[in-house]
Amino acid sequence: MSKPRVLIVEDNVDNFELVRFLLERAGYEVLSAANGLEGLDAARREHPDLILMDLSMPEMDGWNATTHLKADEETRTIPVLALTAHTLPGDRKRAIDAGCDGYISKPINVASFDKLVATLLRQARAGLRP
Ligand code: MN
Repeated sequence: MSKPRVLIVEDNVDNFELVRFLLERAGYEVLSAANGLEGLDAARREHPDLILMDLSMPEMDGWNATTHLKADEETRTIPVLALTAHTLPGDRKRAIDAGCDGYISKPINVASFDKLVATLLRQARAGLRP
């Protein structure tokens, strides 16, 4: 079976490097985009198995990008996990309302990150909606 492909949409280089490290260590292929607009393009072009979506980004934020992804027949089935330093419940609710399938709080807990990513990829491969 081919390696699962995960798109990271993140404007912060340190956060990006950490997430890339964790994903590559877990054996996944990593694609990247630096803001929501680039993320939309990459998702439509590459059809990744999973998208990790930062929320606060220039050009287009993660809430907006997720809304677009979930409104598009081509991309709506790709699971989106929000990467959020936004610890207010309202921000998480906004992410879920925008269509995110879950969220990972920053700073990242490595064990729960690995587990959640693996679970969503397994569901996506099985053709289940997360
Ligand atoms: Mn950001």
